[in-house]
Amino acid sequence: MSVEIPDLRSQVQYLKGVGTQRAEILKRIGIHRAVDLLFYFPRDYQDMTERRDIDQLKEDNNLQTVVGVIEEWDTRSTRRGQLLSLAINCQDKGYVKGLWFKMSFIMRDFARGRRVMLTGKPKYDHPFWTMMHPQITYLADNENEDEAEPYLPIYSLTEGLKQFHLRKILRNMLPIYAPLLDEVFPESFLAEHKLLPIREAIPAIHFPPDKATMIWAKRRFVYQELFVLQLGLAVRRLQHRTHLKSSPLPIDQKIDVRIRQRFPFTLTKAQERVIKEIVNDMSHPVPMNRLLQGDVGSGKTVVAVYAMLLAVANGHQAVFMAPTEVLARQHLRTLTRMLENSQVKIVPLFGGQKPSERAGILQEIATGSAQIVVGTQAIIYNEIPFQKLGLVVIDEQHKFGVLQRAVLKTGGKFDPHYLVMTATPIPRSITMTLFGDLDVSIMNGMPPGRQKVTTYLAGPERRAAWWDFVARKVTEEGWQGYVVVPLVEESENFDVRSLQEVYEQLSTRFLQGIRLGMIHGRMSAVDKEKMMFDFRTGEIQILIATTVIEVGVDVPNANLLTIESAERFGLSQLHQLRGRIGRGSNPGYCTVFCNAVTEESQKRLQAFVKLSDGFKLSEKDFEIRGAGDLFGTQQHGMPPFRVANLVRDKEILYEARQDATNMVLADPGLAQPEHAKLRRQMLGRYGTVLNLGDVG
Ligand code: ADP
Ligand code: MG
Repeated sequence: MSVEIPDLRSQVQYLKGVGTQRAEILKRIGIHRAVDLLFYFPRDYQDMTERRDIDQLKEDNNLQTVVGVIEEWDTRSTRRGQLLSLAINCQDKGYVKGLWFKMSFIMRDFARGRRVMLTGKPKYDHPFWTMMHPQITYLADNENEDEAEPYLPIYSLTEGLKQFHLRKILRNMLPIYAPLLDEVFPESFLAEHKLLPIREAIPAIHFPPDKATMIWAKRRFVYQELFVLQLGLAVRRLQHRTHLKSSPLPIDQKIDVRIRQRFPFTLTKAQERVIKEIVNDMSHPVPMNRLLQGDVGSGKTVVAVYAMLLAVANGHQAVFMAPTEVLARQHLRTLTRMLENSQVKIVPLFGGQKPSERAGILQEIATGSAQIVVGTQAIIYNEIPFQKLGLVVIDEQHKFGVLQRAVLKTGGKFDPHYLVMTATPIPRSITMTLFGDLDVSIMNGMPPGRQKVTTYLAGPERRAAWWDFVARKVTEEGWQGYVVVPLVEESENFDVRSLQEVYEQLSTRFLQGIRLGMIHGRMSAVDKEKMMFDFRTGEIQILIATTVIEVGVDVPNANLLTIESAERFGLSQLHQLRGRIGRGSNPGYCTVFCNAVTEESQKRLQAFVKLSDGFKLSEKDFEIRGAGDLFGTQQHGMPPFRVANLVRDKEILYEARQDATNMVLADPGLAQPEHAKLRRQMLGRYGTVLNLGDVG
C-alpha cells in the first residue's frame, strides 16, 4: 500500500470521491488540481438553520424548509397539465408532499431512499402537508453529513455534477489540503486588518460554521483581490513618479493675472480649487496625470484654458483634443475668442484639411510658432512634430482604462503633463479601479446663472401638448431646442430614416413654420459645421439630431430638449444630452418620450427625471445595471474579478486602496521578504496589463 503525500498540485482524479470520470466533468468547470477545488467558491448557501421539523410547519405564507427521504411519486394529467407529486418521509413523523405542474422532467433525479430538502410555503391538506412548486435540494445520503452544517454551499454546476457530489468531495479534501495553503499576507498584516488566515478562510467559505464567519471568509478573499490590484496601481503610480520627467511649468502672480484677464467671468470656487491642484502638479518635474471629473456644464473648458496658457507662459506648447470635430471646433472658437489680440497662436488640426494647409500648420507646430493645437484625438495621435510640448488636454474622455500615454513627438526629452477631462461622472469605486493611476479632481456645482431644467417622462398621449408648448416658446419667445433621435443601428451605416421621419412629422404637423435642421454622424464635417453655425446663429430654431450633440455642445439659447425612444439611451448619455440645455438666461425643459419599456429602463428613466446631479445619477446607474455591465473590467484589458463586486464591495475597496498605498510607501519595491508573495501575486496578475516593469 502506497501512501499518497497530499499536494495542492495533484490532479483531482486522485482525490477521494472523484475518479477519472468525474475528473473529466470537473475539468469542464476549470477544476484540474486540488487547489482549484479549494478556490471553487460557492455562489450561494442554503440556509439550514431555517429548517423545521414537520410539526413546526405553519400555514403562514412564509418559505419553510423540511428534510425527508423520498418514498414515492407519481404523475397524472390534469386540466393544468401534468401534475407531479412527490411524498417524502420526514423522520417517520409524517409526510410532506411536493406538487409541481408541467415539471415532470425533475423526476429524473428521484430515487427511493434519497434524502432531499423541500423549501416552499406549506399548506395543510388533510392528511398531508403540501407545498406547491417547492425548491428541491438533494442531500448526502448520510444524514450526519449535510444536516450537520448550518449553511450548505451551493456551487455552479455542470451537466453530470450534483451539489452533493461537490460537497462530498470538498468535505473530504478540505481537512487535508487547506492546511497546505500558503498565506500571502504577513501575519501581522492579517491581524491588523482583521483578515482571516487563508487556512481558516478556505474551509469557512465552503462550510461556514455560522453567518459571521461566512462574511469574514468572503471578506478576506474580496479584500485580497482588490488589495492586489491596488498594489499594482500604487506601484504604477510610483514608477511613473520616479521614471518620468517633465519640465516644471510654474506659476507666478504676473502670469496668473494675465491669464485671468482673458476670462469673461470670475471663476467659481470649484474652478479655483481645481486650478490650484493643476497648477501645483504642473510646477513639479513629475508629469501631471490628472483626471478632472466635472458634471456637464460645470465649466471645465476654462480650467483647461488656464492650464494651457500656463504652459504657453512657460514657453511650452499645449494640445487640446476632443473626441468629435463638432466639439473641437467649438473649443477652437472659444479659445480664439478668449485669446483675441494676444500673442498666442492657435492652430486647428482636423481631418479633411487640404494637404498644403496641413503642411503649413505642421510647420508652425514644428518651429514652435504655433503654441496651442486644437483638434480631434484621431488626428493628433498621428505623428505631430511638436517643438516643445508641455501639456496634453484630453476632453470628454469616455474610454475608461488605465491611461495610455499617447506616443507624441514631444520635441524634447521631457514628458508632457496630462489633463484628462470627463463629464461622465464615474462612481468613486470605479475611478479607483479603472483610473487607479490618475489623481482625481472633482468639480461640483455649476457656474452662476445656470438654469433649472425641468424633466418630464411622457407617453405618446402627451405628444401634442408638448409640441404645442415647444412651438409657442420658439415662436413667441425666440427659444431654440434639440430633438434627439436614437440611431436605429449602432453602425456606420445607420438608418437615417428615423431622423427623417421625425423631421417630416414635425415639419408637416406639429412644428409647421418653424425652421428645422438635421444633423447626424453621416454628414460631412463641413455640412455639420454649417448646420451648427446656422443653429448657433438662430437661423435654425429646432435641431433634430442623433447623439452628435451629446458631448460638450454649448448653445446657450437652446432650452428645449426632446428625446425620442429614451429607453434606448443609458443614464449617462441622457444626462449628457440634458446638459445641453439650461445654459442661458432661461430655464430648460426636457421631455423624454418612451415606448414599451422594460422594468430596468423604467427605473432608469424615473431616476433621470428625479435626479439632476450627474454623480448621483452615475451611482444610480451603477446600482441598476451593476458593475459588470457598465464598466466591465475585462473590456478595459483587466482580468475579471473572481469574487469582488464593485457595487457591493465599495467599502472594502476603499480600505484596500488605502492599505496598498501605505504598503508601497513603506516598501516601494515590495522588496521586504514578507512582501515577496504579495509581490509575486501582483506581478502575475497585473504585471502585463499595468505595464509594471521590474519592481524593486
Ligand atoms: P463643461 O464642463 O460641460 O465642459 P463648459 O466649459 O462648456 O462646461 O461651460 C459651460 C458654460 O458655462 C459655458 O457657456 C461657459 O462659458 C460657462 N462658464 C464657465 N465657467 C463660468 C463661470 N465661472 N462663470 C460663468 N459662466 C461660466
Ligand atoms: Mg466640455
